Amino acid sequence: NRVNNPYTGAKVYVNPEWSEKAAAEAGGSRIANQPTGVWLDRTAAINGVNGGMSLRDHLDEALRQKGSGELVIQLVIYNLPGRDCAALASNGELGPTEIDKYKTQYIDPIKAILGDSKYASLRIVTTVEIDSLPNLVTNVTPRATATPNCDVMKANGNYVKGVGYALNKLGDVPNVYNYVDAGHHGWLGWDDNFAPSADMFKQAATAEGATVADVHGFIANTANYSALKEDNFSISDNVAGKSVRESKWVDWNRYTDELSYAQALRNQLVSIGFDSGIGMLIDTSRNGWGGANRPTGPGATTSVDTYVDGGRYDRRINPGNWCNQAGAGLGERPQASPAAGIDAYVWMKPPGESDGSSKAIDNDEGKGFDRMCDPTYTGNPRNNNNMSGALPDAPISGHWFSAQFQELMKNAYPPL
Ligand code: BGC
Repeated sequence: NRVNNPYTGAKVYVNPEWSEKAAAEAGGSRIANQPTGVWLDRTAAINGVNGGMSLRDHLDEALRQKGSGELVIQLVIYNLPGRDCAALASNGELGPTEIDKYKTQYIDPIKAILGDSKYASLRIVTTVEIDSLPNLVTNVTPRATATPNCDVMKANGNYVKGVGYALNKLGDVPNVYNYVDAGHHGWLGWDDNFAPSADMFKQAATAEGATVADVHGFIANTANYSALKEDNFSISDNVAGKSVRESKWVDWNRYTDELSYAQALRNQLVSIGFDSGIGMLIDTSRNGWGGANRPTGPGATTSVDTYVDGGRYDRRINPGNWCNQAGAGLGERPQASPAAGIDAYVWMKPPGESDGSSKAIDNDEGKGFDRMCDPTYTGNPRNNNNMSGALPDAPISGHWFSAQFQELMKNAYPPL
């Protein structure tokens, strides 16, 4: 009894906790009523952290917001063992081997709550394990981008098992819509990453009792900054005798933006056995790249680099940069069915919540200090040894970062 696109004809849940923080910012009331994801980023989030709302509180409030119409509530399932293996900023509470705790203390209780008949009228979108599976393709030996922790998570199979278990159990709830994380074009858009990542998603979607029928779709660009649509250049353009793919920015990627990537990945996934009705979500919470520095037309045709760099909206130093990006803005407002194959644009990452701290900060969440969040860092192989592009003075990931929220509003595109 699932509908094809849960976002069609439905309101989307406004998280009162995020909304309150947004509304308290100067100018924040312009977006405080937008729907954002509810992140279940540790076991304690199920019952509410520090007196905050529990999962049941959110679902009860969702029933209230729903009224007599349809409503989607967006949950982020985010607590894998050995979480965030290629970085430190979002390391979590479970060690690499703690798959049993993940199953019995995290997924099982969530499933029990979502399966309560009281909530049967909600459309519950679960986005499953952000930035996990692709690491097993891109950040493992023998790649130059390998990390020891990703090698461990590949060898012990606990990312694949965890995602499979989550899809299987949550997929048993008839009004749950599972969307698997699909990275973003600036990560998986290269030939050596694209099809192998799709295969990895299939492997996880057929592990631990899950089947492809447990997957309603995929989500691209969660908590990332890749532009939705670069209008000023396309992958098939040639300039000064060279393909755009040869520019430093594109660097042989097959895609220039999230929309073309998500649509192509959808086709790839269907071709390897996922349902032909799967739909994509794209997180547009922070990929607007508007403001005074937004290019108004193509770059000069002197070379592929002047052409691409002069025209691109995404003004990151390198597409591998992911932490609290300076110059970023809010992207498209959440909306249903914006383009072929796309179920919705969503704000899964709540704007104003940090990606990671700029300096080491003690905490009891398992969060580490990743130098990709330090504006003075000169990079590593995963961002091609470029500066991090991060804003200074950020708190640990998930915590409110007022300066970033203001930056995102300032550079919103479409503008506020
Ligand atoms: C953090 C989570 C947080 C989420 C949403 C992630 O980077 O690790 O703790 O809930 O962002 O802000």
